[in-house]
Amino acid sequence: MSFISHLECPQCGKVFSWKEVHHLCACSSPLLTRYDLEKAKRFMTKESLAGREASMWRYRELLPVGQGEDVVTLGEGMTPLLRAPVLGRRLGVPNLYIKDEGTNPTGTFKARGAAVGISRAKNLGVKSVAMPTAGNAGGAWSCYAARAGIKAFVAMPKDAPENAMKECILAGAELFLVDGLISDAGKFIARGVKEFGWYDASTLKEPYRIEGKKTMGFELAEQFNWKLPDVILYPCGGGVGLIGIWKAFQELEALGWISGHRPRLVAVQAEGCAPIVKAFQEGKLESEYWTGARTLAGGIRVPKALGDFLVLRAIKETAGCAVAVSDEEILAARGLVSRLEGLVICPEGAATVAALRKMRETGLVSESDRVVLLNTGTGLKYPELVEVDIPIYQPDDFPMGSDGEKPKRGPKADPRSGSGT
Ligand SMILES: *Cc1c(COP(=O)(O)O)cnc(C)c1O
Ligand SMILES: [Zn+2]
Repeated sequence: MSFISHLECPQCGKVFSWKEVHHLCACSSPLLTRYDLEKAKRFMTKESLAGREASMWRYRELLPVGQGEDVVTLGEGMTPLLRAPVLGRRLGVPNLYIKDEGTNPTGTFKARGAAVGISRAKNLGVKSVAMPTAGNAGGAWSCYAARAGIKAFVAMPKDAPENAMKECILAGAELFLVDGLISDAGKFIARGVKEFGWYDASTLKEPYRIEGKKTMGFELAEQFNWKLPDVILYPCGGGVGLIGIWKAFQELEALGWISGHRPRLVAVQAEGCAPIVKAFQEGKLESEYWTGARTLAGGIRVPKALGDFLVLRAIKETAGCAVAVSDEEILAARGLVSRLEGLVICPEGAATVAALRKMRETGLVSESDRVVLLNTGTGLKYPELVEVDIPIYQPDDFPMGSDGEKPKRGPKADPRSGSGT
């Protein structure tokens, strides 16, 4: 069962029923889901979690799917919290952990939001969902929609990763490629919402995607045995994961399951698209639209986030910060993590590694801090960001030199043959 009680506007405090379809508040703020945590406290203990299924649905009481309602799941969540000792020593942060969201269904943490969002949509009787996406959310929502028997309309920038496009097509979604950014794709979807009544599943325009993403916070708390780390670095696009983790810690505190200091939450962005970083540096409560957004980390190429004020609030309240890194630093960090830890991470996740390096250098993170990096997806979803530039040998032309270490260089692969990719 679920202890969900209502939806609430974090700006004006207005309250809504969770049993009807709701999108934004009249004041244009996203809505947050609230639970009867006093009641939950009497019925739930953290010990009761032991032995439950290894998915995010182990926190079912604190998720918005009511009694007797269906859960649409592909087994998302309860992703590994990996120690990264070699990388940690290299960066001067020996107590370093990576939460690897790349093991989720559809290859990214977008699966968490889609699982809850689609479950709610199904239980509300929704027949079609629509959203703009940088790629990964579209892939995830298409797959979960397919599993729920719901039609998905997805719009993404024409230069989004091809893998994500193919995922949507395979899952039977209606895919639109838009000549522009995610915000332009958003205009496209808004028109379908207005003209055809599509259920708007855009980031934070329905209240439940964030409920899925908050389970990262629950898992971190449980995996750290309810003693939270000092710093959490998150690659921030729309900011849903960061707001979700913040919300999760608030709920756990209300349950009395955690106490003491809260982790400093760090929003990591790319230098070519850093609206939250700019707003943070200028002490603003909201960000401005970032013109000419550019970064190869597509998941964080969001020029203006609907929930920016919540991200900034979360950072401020936890004494965190916002940091920007360059695409060169992102690629270098990705290489480092693959070689040192055997983890092929996504460019967004790599941005947190680059940011940690900067924060350590400037003293914002100290050697004794316990630090968590969120790798939000698998690097295997971005094959176009890896160059394969190695020679092709004839089968009987064994290339190893006498030292047995490195092959002699033969002729380079002919890029036109296609065998190099
Ligand atoms: C969407 C996405 C992000 C950013 O998530 P937000 O919730 O929009 O902040 C980060 N990394 C990856 C891989 C993504 O797909
Ligand atoms: Zn409001």
